[in-house]
Amino acid sequence: MAALAFLLECAATAALIGLAVSLLVWPALLVLRGRVLQRVPALRADLAFVLGMLPALVSMGVVAAAIAPPLAAALGLAADHCLSHGHHVHLCFVHSTHVRPLLAAVGAFALAVFLFRAGAVVLRLMRMRARLSALESLGTSRPGLFSIVAVPGAPRLCHAVGLVRRRILLSASLEESLTPAELRSALAHEEAHLRRRDPLLGLLLGVAGLFAAPFLARTCTTVYQTAAEEACDAEAAAAVGDGGLVAGALVKVAALQRKLSHVTGVEPAFGALALERRVRLLLDEEARASSAHALRVAGAVALAAGLFVLAHTTFLHHAVETALHLLF
Ligand SMILES: [Zn+2]
Ligand SMILES: [Zn+2]
Ligand SMILES: [Zn+2]
Repeated sequence: MAALAFLLECAATAALIGLAVSLLVWPALLVLRGRVLQRVPALRADLAFVLGMLPALVSMGVVAAAIAPPLAAALGLAADHCLSHGHHVHLCFVHSTHVRPLLAAVGAFALAVFLFRAGAVVLRLMRMRARLSALESLGTSRPGLFSIVAVPGAPRLCHAVGLVRRRILLSASLEESLTPAELRSALAHEEAHLRRRDPLLGLLLGVAGLFAAPFLARTCTTVYQTAAEEACDAEAAAAVGDGGLVAGALVKVAALQRKLSHVTGVEPAFGALALERRVRLLLDEEARASSAHALRVAGAVALAAGLFVLAHTTFLHHAVETALHLLF
C-alpha cells in the first residue's frame, strides 16, 4: 500500500514538473518555429532537440532526488528521516500509507496517460522495425560510407534508417527515375541525416516527449524534423555544389512519391516535409551547412542535471514534499 501511494506520488510529481517545464520552454519553441535562425538550420534543430529533452531531464532528475532518501534508508545506507517530520506530506515507500485523494487521483491519471503514450511509441517503433526488416530482407547491400540497401519493387523510396547500424534504403524504381546528378543529391541528403544521427535523435525526442505536455512534444518534433531536413538540404547543396539541383531532385522525388504514404513511418524520407519552404531556401542558397551538436549538448545538460541532483538530493526531496503538501 505504501509502495502504491509512493508510485502515485512520484507519477504526479513527474507529470507536474514535466508540465511546468513544458510551459517554460514553450515560448522559446514558438520563436524557433518562425523565421528566426533560418540561415542556420542545424543550430535550430540542435536547440529544438535540447528544449524537447528538458522536461524529461528535469522531471526524471527531481523524481530521482525524491526517491533517493527513502531508497537509501531501505538499503540501510542512511538513517530514515521519516519520523523526524510529521508536519507535511511524506514521500516514502516504507512508511507513508496515507495519500491524499486528490494527489492519488492526479498520480493515477498521470500514470495512465504516460503508459498509454509509451505504448503508442513502442507500437510505432515495432511496426516500423517490422516494415523495415521486411523491405530489407528483399534487398542487397552495397558497401559505402554508409551502406546502401537496394530494394526491388514499386515503392519509390530513399530513406535514412538505423539507430546504430546506419544505412540508406534506396529502391530500384526510384534509382531508375532519377538522373545521376539527382540521385547524388538525394543520397547526399540522406547521408547528412545519418551523419547527424537523425533517426536516433528522433527516437530520443519521442521518448523524452512522454514526460512533456503533448502540445510541446508535438511542436518540438515538428520544429526539429523541419530544421533537420533543411540542414540536410544545405549539406547536400554543399556536397553537389548546386542548391538548384537539390531543389529539383526534391520536387521530382516528392512528385514520384505523391501516391505513397510513409512506407517506413517516422524515419526521414527524401522529399517529405515542408517542401515549398525548403525549395525556396535551396534556390536562395540561404541556409548554411553546419554540423549537429544536439547529442553532445543534451548529454552535457543531462550530466549537469545529474550532478546537481546528486549534490542537492535532500533539498530536492523536501522541496517536492513541501510542494505536494501545498498543492494538494
Ligand atoms: Zn520512511
Ligand atoms: Zn522525506
Ligand atoms: Zn530528409
